[in-house]
Amino acid sequence: MSSQFPEARPRRLRRNASLRSLFQETEFSLNDLVLPIFVEEEIDDFVPIKSMPGVMRIPESKLAGEIERYARAGIKSVMTFGVSHHLDSNGSDTWNDNGLVSRMSRIAKDAVPEMIVMSDTCFCEYTDHGHCGVMHNLEVDNDQTLLNLGKQAVAAARAGADVIAPSAAMDGQVQAIRRALDAAGFTQTAIMAYSTKFASALYGPFREAGGSALKGDRKSYQMNPMNRREAVRESLLDEQEGADALMVKPAGAYLDIIRDIREASRLPLSAYQVSGEYAMIKFAAQAGAIDEDRVVRESLGAIKRAGADLIFTYFAMDLALAGI
Ligand SMILES: [Zn+2]
Repeated sequence: MSSQFPEARPRRLRRNASLRSLFQETEFSLNDLVLPIFVEEEIDDFVPIKSMPGVMRIPESKLAGEIERYARAGIKSVMTFGVSHHLDSNGSDTWNDNGLVSRMSRIAKDAVPEMIVMSDTCFCEYTDHGHCGVMHNLEVDNDQTLLNLGKQAVAAARAGADVIAPSAAMDGQVQAIRRALDAAGFTQTAIMAYSTKFASALYGPFREAGGSALKGDRKSYQMNPMNRREAVRESLLDEQEGADALMVKPAGAYLDIIRDIREASRLPLSAYQVSGEYAMIKFAAQAGAIDEDRVVRESLGAIKRAGADLIFTYFAMDLALAGI
């Protein structure tokens, strides 16, 4: 039995749509997708985000209705990002039980209790300088920020968040949050660590979406995009600190990293298709250069194929409305 041409003909399994779907190796469904959302306080109307066509800031007053709409379409989970009007030097609104972080989780869980609410846990949307923690001598103070992350995580858990998702890229943040949650009795609240988060230029449109005040960059705490070994190390450190699930962010340009971490850890692994990835597809489609729906599916399929279990994507609602 030869395994070479002319006996071997891979095209046999590609001859028609039924054969192709039967032998398709990778699939994704709404069970795998998380929709990130931007919620702004003290506004009345939706605000389109110009650099992310189709994505809007949601007025807090309309959040409940939106969560119900997502649930009807089949969305299982959202990640909440707040656009705050209460900025200060350390982002203290985030651990106020009546602050925006807490209110988003409360409103979402009240609207649809079975919706899994992941609370992005950071400070950059709540600080007047736009950095992800407390500034000290022009640097983000790692250990002071850890204390505040613990406070924010407990407030979000108390408000009903199912999953705490720390994105501040501080050393030791998963351990600090796990200890704070457990000490407050939230032993069942899970941590989805942004365990390998690169200092990527692909976050550009998010800055507009979140109304970021940042001047400068986050290279002293987020990872160098050129580092593959360190990327695995970062995720494994978060596993040791008690993360329930890991994440690679961004996704599409980091498929090798997703695969590396998939093979190094047994934890669930997610990947975040970020605002710049979304914008590149949207604007290319608007220019007539690519077929949006096909490229979206190819991009998400590739992220799954690389080894991600979950994908955070701004396209989740489009796919849900399309019936996937
Ligand atoms: Zn941040």
